[in-house]
Amino acid sequence: MMKTLAMKCTGCDVCVKECAFLQYYGNPGKIAADFYAGRANELISFECSLCGLCSSLCPKHIDPCKVFFQMRNAVWTQTGKIMPEHKAILAYEKKGLSKRYSLYKLPDACTTVFFPGCTFTGTRTKRTEQIYSWLKNKIPGIGIVLDCCAKPSHDLGRDDFFNKNFLALEHFLYDNKVKTVITACPNCYTVFSTYSKKLKTKSIYEILAKQQRTATNKLIGCVTVHDPCVTRFETDMHNYVRKLLTDNGLEIKEMKHCREKTVCCGEGGSVLFVAPDFASNWGNTRKKEAADKRIITYCAGCCSLLGKTVQTDHVLDLLFEPEKTMQGSVKPSSAPFTYFHRLNLKRKLKKQAKHDVMEKVYFPVEHQRMTKIFKVLIMVILAAGVAGIKMTGAEEIFNQEAIQTYINGFGSLAPLVYMIIVAFSPVFFLPGAPFIIAGGLIFGPFQGVVYGITGATSGACLAFLVSRYVASEWIESKLTNPSWLKLKRQTEKHGWKIVAITRLVPLVPFNLLSYALGLTRIKFTTYFITSFICMLPGCIGYILLSGSVLEVLQGKLSIKFFAGLGIIILLSLIPVFFKKIKPEDL
Ligand code: SF4
Ligand code: SF4
Repeated sequence: MMKTLAMKCTGCDVCVKECAFLQYYGNPGKIAADFYAGRANELISFECSLCGLCSSLCPKHIDPCKVFFQMRNAVWTQTGKIMPEHKAILAYEKKGLSKRYSLYKLPDACTTVFFPGCTFTGTRTKRTEQIYSWLKNKIPGIGIVLDCCAKPSHDLGRDDFFNKNFLALEHFLYDNKVKTVITACPNCYTVFSTYSKKLKTKSIYEILAKQQRTATNKLIGCVTVHDPCVTRFETDMHNYVRKLLTDNGLEIKEMKHCREKTVCCGEGGSVLFVAPDFASNWGNTRKKEAADKRIITYCAGCCSLLGKTVQTDHVLDLLFEPEKTMQGSVKPSSAPFTYFHRLNLKRKLKKQAKHDVMEKVYFPVEHQRMTKIFKVLIMVILAAGVAGIKMTGAEEIFNQEAIQTYINGFGSLAPLVYMIIVAFSPVFFLPGAPFIIAGGLIFGPFQGVVYGITGATSGACLAFLVSRYVASEWIESKLTNPSWLKLKRQTEKHGWKIVAITRLVPLVPFNLLSYALGLTRIKFTTYFITSFICMLPGCIGYILLSGSVLEVLQGKLSIKFFAGLGIIILLSLIPVFFKKIKPEDL
């Protein structure tokens, strides 16, 4: 791509006239020549706003913006480092992606979600609620998702981080039968419409314009429109926003730079942090062109930044609170209050209907504390352990008698050794039943149950955590059977109930189940508590029954025997009941 700049750019300077970055570094052809001569490096691309104006103006149809974006990507790929100046924006993104700030409210049969975006939600919490409530009347069953689209990482060239997080978000929505995403933020719109192959993207402006949403009283006045640079080629969105304004009685006087020739507000490409003078140049252009007119825009970020130098309002404020907006008395929140508002909105949405609210279970790459090397090491140890057991035939010696003899050899440390062995057996795919039965014989019924359930629950949790944090991709690639996918969907929908059923009824192999549940979105604490409670009856049943075998052989039928037998029979009857109440009916 850099070669294209060098070869095709005629140096006409049409683009240079508009852009402070190009005025400083020279036209794209010169930048390419300097790059090849070693006089410039990729780092200068972080001073380009990625606004695309040059690409839209170039008579030779060159796309310098794309080249500058690729240069950013090359920096990340080669160094894996970010500039210290970008730490703040990435910390903002990290919060948006975190479990604490995100929320998935997907009612039954939900196929459409409203995705307001981090900045819009933070600066306009009340508006987010109003729009969601308006949408609920128009689109029954619509859900809402509070999460981040990871655009900051995308713009900083961190493509691996962006892809991983965005794809996880997309897959998650798709797996939950969501087909359409309605965005309020043009950045989110661009991300979804460009990168999602599975979801249809619509902007709230399209929905409002088509529904002819108008304010109660017609507005009077003349305004101008700032099209966010990410919408440069979104002609329909430009038209919908203008329609909303004119339908509400406003007259529009366009600025020189509008629609596909629009300019950046200054926030684009996070240039503000690296070259604030280049960023403010865009704001100055806007101020000059708007003259004394009120600017209406449809990006919360543009609104905040332009609003510092010229009267700027968000079109959604104008539609949902027209009089106050026209009087200039609508005050969007700013940091740090935006963070409190986002958490508050999440709390409110959770409270409205608990059953359809889901926590985020996939985690941003950087939120996983383990390094890649550490993960690989754990995977190698696990693989070597499983292979060693299979190849040496050690699996065969894990019979009840051998275990009993081995554990007894540890004397006072026997309970601890026993629990550790029981805990690690699922991780190495060893059968759990012989260990539990042996526990009853070694320690007696009471201690056998205590040690057995402690070890078994720890083992279930270990396998779950390995699956969720260490080997999720590998395990996911193995569990492709439709029944696993169904189990995953059902668990995400019904949560602890599915864990309870599958733990009570041995329909699914214990070890595989723990790994499979680690891939779902269920909370770890929910999984832990449910597993403990629901594995307990089976554990008691097996231990009571095994503990009374000797007595039975001697011709004595004790209470222990009948209690154990009763529990096992009851548990084995659950599948009959389970057939009648399928998970879908829960
Ligand atoms: S800031 Fe905009 S106009 Fe200037 S080089 Fe970058 S993409 Fe092109
Ligand atoms: S408008 Fe196109 S040809 Fe002209 S200087 Fe810019 S990139 Fe080169």
